[in-house]
Amino acid sequence: MSSVDYTKLMQILSRPRPSGSAGERKTIGDLQGWLTERRLPFRIQAFTLYPYFLICVGLWMLCAHTLLAVSVWLRWGWVSSLIAVLGILGGLLDTAFDIPIVTWPGKTTGQNILIEFEAPNPRRELVISAHYDSKTELFDHRIRYFFVRNLPVGIALAIMLGILSPLVNYLPVPWIAPTYILSVALTIPLLFLVWGLGLNLSLGRLRRNPSQGAVDNGAACAILLGLAQHIADGNIPLEGTRLTLALFGGEEVNMQGSRAYTLGRKWTLPSAALNLEIMAQDGEYVFWEQDGMSLKLFRTDLRLNLAISEAVEKVTGNPARPAGPINSDGYSFMRARVPVATLGTYDCELRESGLHLPSDNLSRVKMTKLVEGVEILAQFIRSYRSDL
Ligand SMILES: [Zn+2]
Repeated sequence: MSSVDYTKLMQILSRPRPSGSAGERKTIGDLQGWLTERRLPFRIQAFTLYPYFLICVGLWMLCAHTLLAVSVWLRWGWVSSLIAVLGILGGLLDTAFDIPIVTWPGKTTGQNILIEFEAPNPRRELVISAHYDSKTELFDHRIRYFFVRNLPVGIALAIMLGILSPLVNYLPVPWIAPTYILSVALTIPLLFLVWGLGLNLSLGRLRRNPSQGAVDNGAACAILLGLAQHIADGNIPLEGTRLTLALFGGEEVNMQGSRAYTLGRKWTLPSAALNLEIMAQDGEYVFWEQDGMSLKLFRTDLRLNLAISEAVEKVTGNPARPAGPINSDGYSFMRARVPVATLGTYDCELRESGLHLPSDNLSRVKMTKLVEGVEILAQFIRSYRSDL
């Protein structure tokens, strides 16, 4: 069994590489170089990438809703309704329906790296994935989650203001002042929510000390590349399983690369997917019970969760623990109706926090857990081959 040079891999995968950046281009080039050197066959899937997705959504959210608040204060009536509608649609259509209303600036081409192993007469298909781009948000996980969780509240407030503002002009006199005061009061929580989330999304790339992307999600990519080498060396028989190891781009900007992959192809065999996030930390393994995007969450596949938890137990002695929710590339598989589980690890001290900061660096990755990660995936492939 030829050994995998994880130190070299983690050097490639421990530097800032936001979508569309020079760091990202260098990482893609270095990963291709690594694969070519080892004669591991791969192909590149090009896709349309909107690299400034978060900045655009953040700025739109901030500007449109601040203008909405001002229009309410100044009693612009129906103009407020129009601003509320535009404020909600811009960003919402981009995020939930993939229509680039406000996120089109800077449109470019992204790349997914696909390492495909075709079995003779395949009877089933498995995709194991991770993303190689790194995070750019301003706030840490937990603060960000507060604002994301309250997004529906923000939308409800904007709708109420869009209704109340013109209403003030048509009400009987005694009702005008209380309705106006109520609408002005409602602008305060709205401004708090949109400024919080808007600054988080739009200022992250200006951080002087960004995430190195070692834990999120360099380690998972290193595990997939190590696995690729072992499979190519014939150490893990696939026996009727068509296997794709996918390194996706654009995950941190609304899962663009994985979506291009899952929705841009046909799924002709019984298929399943395992997505990896924040692997190789020193704490326990977790599988997330829910995955999705900022506005909607779905349950991950129970059977796959059980299978990956068992694979973890066979290798480490302890099963993976349920956790959640998460927003990850797992959602793109859900959208293509491919059953998916998302596996990761926690840091003993920081848990799942500190990932948007310089504290996501190489020292947080346990190199022995990269080897262990490959063993877990090999075990999972074995059980998928026989049980699923
Ligand atoms: Zn991630």
